[in-house]
Amino acid sequence: MSEPSAPSEPSTRSATGPLPQPATAADPDVVIVGAGPAGLLLGLLLGRLGRRVLLIEREPAPRPGPGNGICPILQPATLGVLGDLGLLPDLVKGTTPVTHGEVIAADTVVAGYSYAELPGAPVDFALPTSIVHLRDVLTEAVLATPGVEIVYEATVHGLPERDGADDGPRGLLLETAEGMRTLRPSLIVGCDGKRSAVRRMAGISSEITEFRRGYLELRVPMPDFWGGVMRAYFTADGYMLGTPIADDQLLFVWITDETTAGRVADGSLAELVERYASGIPGAADWIRAHTRDRKQVREFPHHIVRPERWVAGNVLLVGDSAHGVHVYGGQGLNLSLQDAACLADAVDEALTAGDTAALRRFEAIRMPFISAFQDMQRIHLAALAERSGQQGGGQGVGHLPEFAPLALGQPELRAALAAAGRRPTRNEG
Ligand SMILES: Cc1cc2nc3c(=O)[nH]c(=O)nc-3n(C[C@H](O)[C@H](O)[C@H](O)COP(=O)(O)OP(=O)(O)OC[C@H]3O[C@@H](n4cnc5c(N)ncnc54)[C@H](O)[C@@H]3O)c2cc1C
Repeated sequence: MSEPSAPSEPSTRSATGPLPQPATAADPDVVIVGAGPAGLLLGLLLGRLGRRVLLIEREPAPRPGPGNGICPILQPATLGVLGDLGLLPDLVKGTTPVTHGEVIAADTVVAGYSYAELPGAPVDFALPTSIVHLRDVLTEAVLATPGVEIVYEATVHGLPERDGADDGPRGLLLETAEGMRTLRPSLIVGCDGKRSAVRRMAGISSEITEFRRGYLELRVPMPDFWGGVMRAYFTADGYMLGTPIADDQLLFVWITDETTAGRVADGSLAELVERYASGIPGAADWIRAHTRDRKQVREFPHHIVRPERWVAGNVLLVGDSAHGVHVYGGQGLNLSLQDAACLADAVDEALTAGDTAALRRFEAIRMPFISAFQDMQRIHLAALAERSGQQGGGQGVGHLPEFAPLALGQPELRAALAAAGRRPTRNEG
């Protein structure tokens, strides 16, 4: 399943080195490709630090509304940053905070945790958040920040050498409704997701492992008996996770091996309902009564993405473009937002110093942590697949990632996370 991306040219650029000044007064300090969660948060924080930022998004401008996006769970460490930026009141609207977790095997609660009892947590809950709602809240904050602009429906055609010199800093060839132009900022940041075009255009090769099947979601209305609890169930063929999400819905995620997922997803709705009902006995009747439509069930592929580096010349990768992770452990969005939060200071420092050393320092701290997380995912997904194949397997407790590091973020970065949203705003417009 592993495939190297095909770089347009080999990456020979040094990871540390000078950062150029913007070529003209009209060029921004930083161009961020991708106005997803990581790009928006990075743009917002850099704008607050007084940097001129242009965000480039290939999709049309979002129309506010509930949407039907995925619903990741924001962990306390991430919520701390968003709270410091004043975004929590908007984010919690319409969703149910998760205050507790339970691990259940053979219909028995075998472990439990409470966010309120987690020492050092900036908030005492996790928050299932529609990614569409998160994007809307961040976009509104970005558009209110002087010095930051978003261009929608924009296409990046390449990252040509800025000054025509081999191995020199790159510019960005951009097409918008107004035509083609070349931008020559100090820094180009790829926040364009796991299939990053910036990564490819910068010649950063990457190992991509695809998990095409093995992840199914079922949404049902929220029952009164559930409460603000996330429950993980170990079953004979994987594990299921039940969590309240926005719009009074309950989300059941099933992570299993690709063969089982494929067979069940391609089979009848009745069989699928029974798989969920038998995996989650406490909600079996509710699931049977409230699963009527195939549209309630969705299947997503997931990817583990490992680029050789995150910094190449004046190009930086952030979020999923730097490290797509599998959904196991529910960390992709949290890692991406935490990257952005910690990197804003590093980017600011790099721009002031005129070199990439601060970015490289971040990479040196962060990359081993993320690689270890991805290794853990691979090991446990492989074990899960093996267990699924065994007769009567899965009666014991499987493995879930440790709770505290997921909730609080990477230990070495916790101080930076706590400070990220509290920096005094330099640019008052
Ligand atoms: C089903 C599912 C469930 C998940 N659950 C969780 C969870 O519980 N917890 C968790 O932490 N994470 C979860 N994730 C992962 C999370 O959604 C991602 O890690 C997160 O969205 C990454 O953010 P990002 O900003 O780096 O990239 P993205 O969200 O992919 O945003 C990239 C942006 O760049 C834009 N773009 C792409 N290419 C270009 C281009 N060439 N030019 C211009 N713009 C471009 C895109 O339109 C998009 O706006 C889940 C993912 C899925 C699919």
